[in-house]
Amino acid sequence: MILDGKAVSEKRLEFLKEVIGESGLYPRLATVIVGNDPASQMYVRMKHRACERVGIGSVGIEIPGDSTTKKVLESISGLNRDADINGILVQLPLPEQIDTDKVITAVKTEKDVDGFHPTNLGLLMSGKPRFAPCTPKGIMNLLEDYRIPIAGERVVIAGRSIDVGRPMAALMTNADATVTVCHSRTRNLSAELRQADILISAIGKAHFITQDMVKSGAVVVDVGINQLNGNLVGDVDFDGVKKVASAITPVPGGVGPMTIATLMENTFLAATRIS
Ligand code: NAD
Repeated sequence: MILDGKAVSEKRLEFLKEVIGESGLYPRLATVIVGNDPASQMYVRMKHRACERVGIGSVGIEIPGDSTTKKVLESISGLNRDADINGILVQLPLPEQIDTDKVITAVKTEKDVDGFHPTNLGLLMSGKPRFAPCTPKGIMNLLEDYRIPIAGERVVIAGRSIDVGRPMAALMTNADATVTVCHSRTRNLSAELRQADILISAIGKAHFITQDMVKSGAVVVDVGINQLNGNLVGDVDFDGVKKVASAITPVPGGVGPMTIATLMENTFLAATRIS
């Protein structure tokens, strides 16, 4: 079975549009981009397009790539104070000279629709999430849509980043899965991955996960976005792994669209909480 994130995200966006329409609210998202990295610009454009589609206002703040941390913090501080802005998204990665931790921590927690602020990550860890980071939350929504059971399942996550691996582990723990987090220092990764009923890869290496690393009947979620010979591919060798998996997400069209839909849902949530 192909887990069609594009179709599920479309359905969720349509539903959200109706809910926003009926709410009488006009949520607004501010995006902050520092520099002109083409991939970041593309992601921000996609987010603005999604906003338009569901009835969320969006403001794009563009800061020159050679700016200081102070300049970025000033911008965030203005958005924190702006009562018309419900959600703030800082597009990562930031240029090297910017202190990313300081920037993430500067976002007002009630407007932190990316869920990367330590307070929001802490709430998620404590089992009482306010905003869960969009990619892992989007994966939970995708699995739920396909009625894939989670409680009691063995979930193995490859990658321990703040935006994917760690919050994914917290969401899965909160949903009663038995969770293993693997990373670059994990010994015998293949053996760990083969234990998975649900395998989630967020490594960022093209076609790294091969058929022999996947248990027969496993559900495979591919978060990776990599360039290979001019094509966009995931971490998972899709053609090989689909022969053994019971369900698998494609790249593109799997996790990516779910991430954007979740950002819209988080922004609406922020608007309902503030008003
Ligand atoms: P990251 O670089 O911050 O983290 C990568 C993780 O992979 C690290 O924890 C590292 O320990 C682990 N890793 C690296 N090599 C490994 C190996 N050989 N074995 C086991 N673990 C290994 O990356 P990230 O931000 O978590 O993103 C991961 C991938 O997911 C990237 O391709 C990124 O583009 C993609 N991504 C996609 C979405 C989406 O919406 N689809 C969102 C975020 C990230």
